[in-house]
Amino acid sequence: MTAMNERNQPAPFGGLSIDFSGDTSVAAPATPAPLGGLSIALAPDAATAPGGPATAAAPDDGRTETKLLIVGSGPAGLTAAVYAARANLEPIVLAGSAPGGQLMLTSDVENYPGFPEGIQGPDLMAAFRSQAERFGTRIVDVDVDRVDLSSRPFRLWARGVEYRAEAVIVATGASAMWLGLESETRLRGRGVSACATCDGFFFRDREIAVVGGGDTAFEEASYLTRFASKIHLLHRRDEFRASKIMVERAKANPKIQIHTNTAIDEVLGDAKVDGLALRDTVTGKATTLPIEGLFIAIGHRPNTEAFRDWLEIDAKGYLVVHDETHSKIDGVFIAGDVHDHRYRQAVTAAGDGCKAAIDAERWLEAEGITEANTLTAW
Ligand code: NDP
Repeated sequence: MTAMNERNQPAPFGGLSIDFSGDTSVAAPATPAPLGGLSIALAPDAATAPGGPATAAAPDDGRTETKLLIVGSGPAGLTAAVYAARANLEPIVLAGSAPGGQLMLTSDVENYPGFPEGIQGPDLMAAFRSQAERFGTRIVDVDVDRVDLSSRPFRLWARGVEYRAEAVIVATGASAMWLGLESETRLRGRGVSACATCDGFFFRDREIAVVGGGDTAFEEASYLTRFASKIHLLHRRDEFRASKIMVERAKANPKIQIHTNTAIDEVLGDAKVDGLALRDTVTGKATTLPIEGLFIAIGHRPNTEAFRDWLEIDAKGYLVVHDETHSKIDGVFIAGDVHDHRYRQAVTAAGDGCKAAIDAERWLEAEGITEANTLTAW
């Protein structure tokens, strides 16, 4: 349920931490968020923070060889695991040292179908995880350090352990980029967000700011006009990367005020955002801007490091897919935000994970690695 403030309006973020970045290098908010009894595992050490979710861990069978290995444990990776496990592929998921993906740092998820009252991001990911484990997925909370996709079985290393798989699904996601200010980190979930689609709703009739000069910033500013009373779009230069039409639309919108040559020095506020300390990047003049929310829209970074020597990467840094979920390497499939810079939603990532698992199963059958099973009950 969304927390209410004293005016009986939804408090921004319900007083919770909302962070759609997947960047778990940041500290958790100072005040513990009521996350449905769950603890968010932010510790990088998987040994002490196995998954964070409150579900009882499935007995670990210790397997390191599998027909299908999935890298990543957000909605794409874990949906792929559910489908693959139900198809008897006995998948292994290398979940990352901060498993669960971007939703682990998100509070209210109100747009995931099936939850009319909304659900906490970590609760949703705990459910994904236990569903995958229920059908026999082995989930290991480690980061992949190195891969060798030159021949089958494919080999992947994590914390010194070698994993072997006949097929691989890469579902490593993407992380929002942040300004890097201490105050920005401290106030994440208390008025600072990187996802207008997720959090815009909480800023009804409030004055807010969006930072960035690309299409995302303009798209988010435009989207936020449905909720906010006024949106200040702040850009550090006087030229935009955004397409002309997006800029023209924003200029024509009376709710949007564009500030060029404007940098943010600090996000102001203790318990929640109440303003910005700004600097003119040409004159150096300092000003303050009273606002209640700040949306960071300066780009996303797909998590491709371990795979960049093996898979195709497009001009924006995302993995390239062919024919829905295939990569250029036979037997290696791609799902979710690591290739999708357009939709970036939990539900689209989950759909992508489902497609990748079905494609992987069909490919394994075609290769004669698994028995053809026309009765697979997806
Ligand atoms: P972009 O890389 O296009 O733009 C990022 C913006 O953030 C730039 O204006 C950049 O400033 C600014 N920025 C980067 N770092 C900082 C920083 N530390 N401080 C302040 N400002 C910073 O990313 P987008 O996410 O906007 O777009 C990514 C891609 O997705 C683009 O190709 C875009 O066209 C596409 N896209 C398309 C959409 C559509 O067609 N509907 C919607 C959204 C995205 P500077 O310009 O000075 O470098």
